[in-house]
Amino acid sequence: MDHFPIFVATSGRRIVLSGGGDAALAKLRLLLKTKANISVFTPKPASEIVQWAATGKLTLIKRAMEPGDAMCAVLFYAADEDSVEDARTSAIANADGALVNVVDNLADSQFITPAIVDRDPVTIAIGTEGAAPVLARAIKADLEERLPATLGTLARIGKTFRKMSYSLPFGRARRDFWRDYYFNAGPKAIADGVDAVRPALDDLLNAHLARDAREGHIAFVGAGPGDPELLTLKARRALDEADVVIYDRLISKEILELARREAIMLDVGKEGFGPSTSQDTINDLLVEHGASGAQVVRLKSGDATVFGRLDEELDAVTAAGIGWHIVPGITAASAAVASIGQSLTKRGRNASVRFLTGHDMQGFADHDWAALAAPNEVAAIYMGKKSARFVQGRLIMHGADQNTPITVIENASRPNQRVLSTTLAHLPTDLADANMTGPALTFYGLAPRDASEAAATLITREFA
Ligand code: SAH
Repeated sequence: MDHFPIFVATSGRRIVLSGGGDAALAKLRLLLKTKANISVFTPKPASEIVQWAATGKLTLIKRAMEPGDAMCAVLFYAADEDSVEDARTSAIANADGALVNVVDNLADSQFITPAIVDRDPVTIAIGTEGAAPVLARAIKADLEERLPATLGTLARIGKTFRKMSYSLPFGRARRDFWRDYYFNAGPKAIADGVDAVRPALDDLLNAHLARDAREGHIAFVGAGPGDPELLTLKARRALDEADVVIYDRLISKEILELARREAIMLDVGKEGFGPSTSQDTINDLLVEHGASGAQVVRLKSGDATVFGRLDEELDAVTAAGIGWHIVPGITAASAAVASIGQSLTKRGRNASVRFLTGHDMQGFADHDWAALAAPNEVAAIYMGKKSARFVQGRLIMHGADQNTPITVIENASRPNQRVLSTTLAHLPTDLADANMTGPALTFYGLAPRDASEAAATLITREFA
């Protein structure tokens, strides 16, 4: 982030602009929404500027800027539409101590004006650091459409009601009240006119005061393989409402960012073979927060019911008498198989598919190797990187064909996804060569749909 967004207090303060043409007009239209004292310097003002000056909206000084003209100004806009003059006027403003913006010149500007969605007092500023103005405009158009024009009015009335809402306990109860106001009762009431809003607020507050305080609850939520767009709508909603989020190591940053900003975020990441938060500690955290009345989201990668040690956590919260539910997610095998254009099951090839773990609490996990070694079997092996040689040895010992295709997908669904296509014979060496450091899923018995012949290939996904 090169440019840090802030909202500058402008009421009663000085803003200076140099220029009198179209660029100046565009900026002035925005600036006139503030309560700043605006001074415009230009020998050739457009007629609107003359009118604004006549009606006292700004002060017009009909000459070019001179040193000292931007004294005490907070902000200065060089809108001269002439790069030599812009450089001259912004040097003056700079020396006078104002923050300088040169219109359409990012490099020489000390601040930039974002695209703005105005629902005063709600103001949304959109910036792309000059990288993609088209994108900023598209986002603005999208928000303009989505946010009702009455939002500003609702916010203004809401502000006068803030103190009343303090009769509700701080935290969840108060938040629920305001949510109900802005997204339900408020918009409904304002349809009957502005005067209907205040009585609706009184009714709403009474209804919320009468509500029993909510009990603590744990949602065990599958976060999917990493791509935030593979979250379910239920997962998204749970994150939106959580007071506490307890998450694993594999949960991507983009997904964590979707949690409510006030939520307590607890990282209980378990490294496969490294240091970890003990399962007992995790169980205790769940019970502690659930018992305190919090809405807890226990975020697990993929689907919570697949190699997630879910049952131990369910037992702990059940024993503590805390309510819970499970939100299913997309498991790594589903995301990984999608990326190679294959099916997990296929008529005439395999009528069943196994989900295996490469290691369990005792070390490498044992499975029915003889059954797996038969032709056309398909298995998705989770946590299989370290156990590759062990798995290979067991399968070959039980007669598996050394040419059986194997595909390892690292970081499935993420921008840094990689696909390694190999065979049982070469699995350990090819895997070592690929040096995979992210989570990886190994498919036994599946090759990418478009794989070239037996030779090992490593495909790194490319983004347009
Ligand atoms: N509950 C999870 C699995 C947890 S075990 C699920 O349903 O996906 C952790 C293992 O899952 C990792 O070692 C890896 O084998 C696999 N895994 C998780 N996310 C993955 C991803 N984005 N790409 C590839 N494998 C992944």
